Amino acid sequence: MERKIKVLVWSEGTEPKSVYPNGINGEIASFLRELPNVEVYTSSFNDSEFGLSERTLFGVDVLVWWGHQKHDKVPDEIVSRIVKRVKNDGMGFIPLHSSHFSKPFISLMGTKCKLGSWREDGRSEYVHVFNRKHPIASGIEDFVIEQEEMYGEPFEVPKPDDVVFVSIFEADGAIFRSGLTWKVGKGKVFYFRPGHETYPTYRNENVKRIIKNAVLWVARA
Ligand code: ZN
Repeated sequence: MERKIKVLVWSEGTEPKSVYPNGINGEIASFLRELPNVEVYTSSFNDSEFGLSERTLFGVDVLVWWGHQKHDKVPDEIVSRIVKRVKNDGMGFIPLHSSHFSKPFISLMGTKCKLGSWREDGRSEYVHVFNRKHPIASGIEDFVIEQEEMYGEPFEVPKPDDVVFVSIFEADGAIFRSGLTWKVGKGKVFYFRPGHETYPTYRNENVKRIIKNAVLWVARA
């Protein structure tokens, strides 16, 4: 039998319960569990050792990360633990949305990871499949997320290996590279933009499929 892929879905826990009663980590875990041969765990900022103990991190092949307001409160010691797991051991890392400013992502990228602009206007996001051949785009056609926050370029990250998705925002036609991959040391990183916490983005069928595809892709170093 094929060895199971072990995935940890982490959230800082500041997402509103009215939108995500089980947290964004719980929401994502629930659809990842539909994948065969995948074992899914959740933890959060509020757990002991921030839900990111050495033992926890050494037990998983993929870390999915959602954070927004508590980036700076994650201790550097834990951040270097994550970075080492990615670079030296090939753990996959999937930072979502506002996690562009998370310490592990900034550390892995080695840049400031700033956005050109952002606006929480609840208008729609058109997600264009830019690289149709990439495994993360498997089964995905261009789609619309009815309500999202907008992000605009320039996104201050190193040149990605692949631009899988590009988003265009309804309000003013701003453009953002919304699905990007990098190989960092032995590990794979996939940044995916959608997922502002006041909108039910992680219940969108295309978003779910993309995150499932991404878990399978980053798990294979
Ligand atoms: Zn946001």
